[in-house]
Amino acid sequence: MVYNDQNIQLEVSKGDITDQPDLDVVVNAANAELAPGGGVAGAIHQKAGPGLYKECKPLAPIYPGEAVLTNAFDLPNKKIIHCLGPVYGRDKPEKELLASCYRNSLRLADKERLESIGFPGISTGIFGYPPDLAVEVVFNTVLAELPQLEHLKKIKFVVFNDEDLRLYESKLKEISDS
Ligand code: ADP
Repeated sequence: MVYNDQNIQLEVSKGDITDQPDLDVVVNAANAELAPGGGVAGAIHQKAGPGLYKECKPLAPIYPGEAVLTNAFDLPNKKIIHCLGPVYGRDKPEKELLASCYRNSLRLADKERLESIGFPGISTGIFGYPPDLAVEVVFNTVLAELPQLEHLKKIKFVVFNDEDLRLYESKLKEISDS
């Protein structure tokens, strides 16, 4: 599902964040140590190869809401942005920290003159953020950033299951109908 706003394409797609060759940069739902771990981070490090962790190590630790840039190694993208989401119920204010993830990632990608970016559902896996609450934060934050973006032309939300696909698609439809 695709929607255009201010010459930027917003897209929702079900798939694997490590298999998005149409995107200049993908976002990693990282841990503070920028280590492989599980979920998205595990998949990204596994596919990118050991060079990624070598580049990551000196950049760690990062704090909730922070985003850092690395090369993509064996991923089919130019760059990776690693972002630490809030652990739901622990890192507060969780809404603002989650918003910072998306805002900082978009600003960093735009500053690097990258034209397309892919996001997984940051914090909604191991970190426990309820996906229906997260999706509201995601779209409010991203829509508010669009007027400031100079280089990004495509923002893709890569969801991993049918339930999240329904959530994201109904939110995108709500926006396009309004
Ligand atoms: P966090 O620790 O920030 O919660 P996770 O990696 O545990 O991050 O999960 C974030 C979201 O990404 C969850 O919705 C999870 O189902 C989804 N996910 C897990 N692996 C992948 C993948 N390879 N591609 C896209 N999304 C993924």
